Amino acid sequence: MQERWTVLVVIAHPDDETACGGTIAKLAEEGHRVVVAVATNGNKGTHDPAVTPEMLSQMRVREMEQACAALGVSKLIRYDYDDGALADSPDLKERIYRTIREEKPDILITFDPWRKYEFHPDHRTVGMLAAEAAYLADGCWYFPQHAAAGLMPCKPQEVYLFWSDEPNYTVDVAATWERKLRAADAHASQGTDGEPFGTKYLNWLRANAASEAELRRETFRKVYRTSLTI
Ligand SMILES: [Zn+2]
Repeated sequence: MQERWTVLVVIAHPDDETACGGTIAKLAEEGHRVVVAVATNGNKGTHDPAVTPEMLSQMRVREMEQACAALGVSKLIRYDYDDGALADSPDLKERIYRTIREEKPDILITFDPWRKYEFHPDHRTVGMLAAEAAYLADGCWYFPQHAAAGLMPCKPQEVYLFWSDEPNYTVDVAATWERKLRAADAHASQGTDGEPFGTKYLNWLRANAASEAELRRETFRKVYRTSLTI
């Protein structure tokens, strides 16, 4: 029987999971347990001044739940920070370390924080802190209060970074392609002029891809040389 992993996906905003949505759906279909941790509530993701941050965060929480259900995600964890306000803080760091120690993932997936021209501070921050936690969360003196609460030091064996300028690993997501786009459509608030978010995302992918076949692949920087190949 194939080994069953827990895979933790750490992202900044509701809709970031679309970057690896085909991979999430593939892992879920193969019977792995996929947990998604989203750091912000996405409450600044609009250009419409009539949509308040309060309204938007409520919408985006529901959209994220629907997208995760469509991808087969087992558990969604929300840290509920304000959009655009993430920083390298002890508070955010502690949440990520705690999530790793609670969920005990075999694999962690997050942003490549070193992507050139990544201007969104939340993407850089989450990628950096999640990669750091994946490296250090087995250290007993990092947030030692966790052990007192029964959460023992541990860390994932493998880390995959999406949106990398230096990918070294490709996942064929042809089989889960439609599912990825349907899940993206759940982010209705992020569509433009009646165009569903899945279509908007597809158009963006097409503008950056050399061929249609390339669209149905998701690339990563696989950090360690383990046999945990997704
Ligand atoms: Zn984002």
